Amino acid sequence: MSTQLNLILLGPPGAGKGTQAARLVEDFNLPWVSTGDMLRAAVTEGSELGIKAKEYMDAGNLVPDDLIVALIVERIGEPDCSDGFLLDGYPRTIPQADALEQALRGLDRSVAATLLVELDDEEVVRRLSGRRMCVKGGHGYHLEFDPPKHEGICDQDGSRLIQRDDDVPEVIRRRLAVYHEQTEPLAAYYEDRGMLKRFDGSRTQTEVHDHIRAALATLRLEDSV
Ligand code: ADP
Ligand code: ADP
Repeated sequence: MSTQLNLILLGPPGAGKGTQAARLVEDFNLPWVSTGDMLRAAVTEGSELGIKAKEYMDAGNLVPDDLIVALIVERIGEPDCSDGFLLDGYPRTIPQADALEQALRGLDRSVAATLLVELDDEEVVRRLSGRRMCVKGGHGYHLEFDPPKHEGICDQDGSRLIQRDDDVPEVIRRRLAVYHEQTEPLAAYYEDRGMLKRFDGSRTQTEVHDHIRAALATLRLEDSV
């Protein structure tokens, strides 16, 4: 088996997966594979997948496994993923994790680590309620914790900041319930396989980032001995 950085970011909505992913893909020069972003792009495009996915996303439910698995198996087979990748928002169910394991095994590859960013429900609600994204580059902000320099405008590309349709109280509650029911069991799944690393998502963005980097440095050292 290879020692590529095939990484998974796991955690409840709002834990800071996207925030950390943006930093880690820079650090390690990895492609950022976000199923949420891929699905939102499909919805905007109005593709067949987008039309099917929209009703699930709007309700805060998971898009059916068969649609997501097909999308991800194709994506990780692309050339830019051949030296490693960072999965953000996948897997979210045990069948998705099994499908990933099987697809990687077919390529003689495996998951190097699953990074679980933990955050309690109350904090998740605060994070998601204040989350804003820019329309152009998808850069993330928080009204309270990470505000832009000029209200409503992205620091990085000057585009408008918007709130996601699913970051509203009723849908947030549903997404959290779905997380506890369907996604949280993946922590034990990866723990049993000795692949899980836990991080305290309530720390600052920089602290979480430092902790993840330290854990990955250790992983690489272990691999090279
Ligand atoms: P967050 O950043 O808040 O964790 P995402 O952007 O990852 O949310 O996902 C938004 C929505 O897209 C989810 O609520 C779900 O409907 C859908 N989705 C994303 N990834 C998956 C997946 N792996 N399986 C099923 N549905 C998914
Ligand atoms: P996820 O991808 O897990 O859904 P995001 O990275 O989009 O989460 O973060 C959710 C919200 O919380 C965003 O508004 C982001 O700016 C903010 N945020 C992320 N990490 C932290 C942190 N460590 N402390 C405070 N706020 C954070």
